[in-house]
Formats: sequence, structure tokens, C-alpha cells
Amino acid sequence: MLAGLGVHNGRNTRVALEPASADAGIIFVADGQEIEALLPNAQALQRQTSLIANGVAIATIEHLVAALMSLGVDNAVVHVTGGEVPAMDGSARCFVDAIDEVGLVFLKQHKKILRVVAPVRVSDGAAWAQLTPASSGMSFDVEVAFRQPIGRQRHVLSLTPETFRNELASARSFGSLDEAQRLWSQGLALGASLENSLVYDERGVLNPHGLRYENECARHKMLDAVGDLALAGAPLIGAFRSYRSGHRLNVSLLKAAFEAGALVLEKARNSPARGQLTAISP
Ligand SMILES: [Zn+2]
Repeated sequence: MLAGLGVHNGRNTRVALEPASADAGIIFVADGQEIEALLPNAQALQRQTSLIANGVAIATIEHLVAALMSLGVDNAVVHVTGGEVPAMDGSARCFVDAIDEVGLVFLKQHKKILRVVAPVRVSDGAAWAQLTPASSGMSFDVEVAFRQPIGRQRHVLSLTPETFRNELASARSFGSLDEAQRLWSQGLALGASLENSLVYDERGVLNPHGLRYENECARHKMLDAVGDLALAGAPLIGAFRSYRSGHRLNVSLLKAAFEAGALVLEKARNSPARGQLTAISP
């Protein structure tokens, strides 16, 4: 069980993971209602992705579902209290450490995968995101462009549990002090602080310990994209690339890919090591 402030609602929030049976998928539970972590229930809102169904909303699910998908967890029940997944340190680090600590078990059923079989691209002004076919694995190439001091940053990665742990999981949410003040005045980002966000002013980073990576902002945007694409319901085989993308465009891309028939469900039959994984209880 992990507890902390919700970065958006500023409330005390908690999350607990439980194992689930094969083919259950990732199921969130809040206020006694189950919501599957799937695209039809997803809503990309300002600076976060929520699951909304049956009159219940759960905010900021993206870093947790990114960790589950990247570590190979196909099935889990996620209990959330307080309407939002706790921000922890603004990254996926605590979720990865918690899952690694309890461990995973293989289930007998074959893992499901979604193969990208045709290119799909969405854009909004200068921003764009695309998926293209690949022979194996899921790769990410994410570029951001902000005013200085963030500037242009890029990160390229082939997603595995190891690369996720070592290159993405610790990259924190970020924003400018001006933007934080504006969001606070609108009643948003109420829990945001230097404890759970990388905060910039025009001169640089305000956090006392500075950056974790020189291109931490590009890496965080990639972490967000991994989480948003995990709402496909199975790991993808394909290549994701984006420029100045965010939750809204990532979710639109996934919708467009399904609508175009560009994602085809397969079972990974070849390797016995690809059984479905589920989190086990501590
Ligand atoms: Zn994020």
C-alpha cells in the first residue's frame, strides 16, 4: 500500500495492488466500483489521464499503469482511495519498487499483445504522435520543445523492464512556477510541490537536488506516453514517436489506431517465458 498527496486534488490518497486471475487485465476499484484500465474509460484531462466510468473518476493513473505494463504485469486489481493515485515523488519509482518488492508470478495462459500493423499519426498544430509497425518489441522516441531553460530535449528507448527501471521510472513530472501558480488559482494541481514535481523558473530548476537526468522532461513525457498507451489493454509491438505530445494527443493516437484497425490482437505463443504476470500480495 502506498499513500501520499494527490498532485491534482491535493487530498490524502492511497493505492493498493492485489493479484488478479489470468485475462482479468488491470482493474481499478474506487468507491466500490470497478473500472477497467482501458481506452473507452480513459479521459485525458489537463496534465493527467483519468479513468471515468459508472459515476466514479480516478485521476493520475498514468505513472502506475506505465509501471505495471512495463514490468510485464498483465493482471492486477488496483484499489484507490481519495479519487486519485498518489503522486509519490512525481515519477513511477515508488510503484516499480513496490512491485519489485512483492514480486510477480507467471500464469499459465499466454500473454496477449497488440501488434501495430499500419502507420497511424495524429497532430495538433506543431505537435504530433505516431505509431508504426516494428518486427518486435516496443520502442519510444519522444521529443519536447519548451521555452528555456527546458528547451528541446529528446529521449529514445527500446522498452523492457530493465530500460523502464533504469531510464524512465525515476523521471518526475515537471512544470514552471508561473504555470503552477496559474493552476493553483484554477483549483488545479493542488498537491503539486517540490516534493512531487520538477519546478522551473526562467533561470533553472528550483528543486534543491536538481535534475535526475539532463533530459528528465523528455523522459517524463515518455513515461506518460508509456502509461497512456498501456490503456490499449495489452503491450504493443511497434514504434511510438512524438513531438510535443501530451496525454490528450497520446489518447487520440490510440483511439485513431483502434478505429483504423491498425492494432491486431495476438497471443505470444512462441516463448513459455511470456506467460501472463500478476502481482502477488506482500
Ligand atoms: Zn506524468
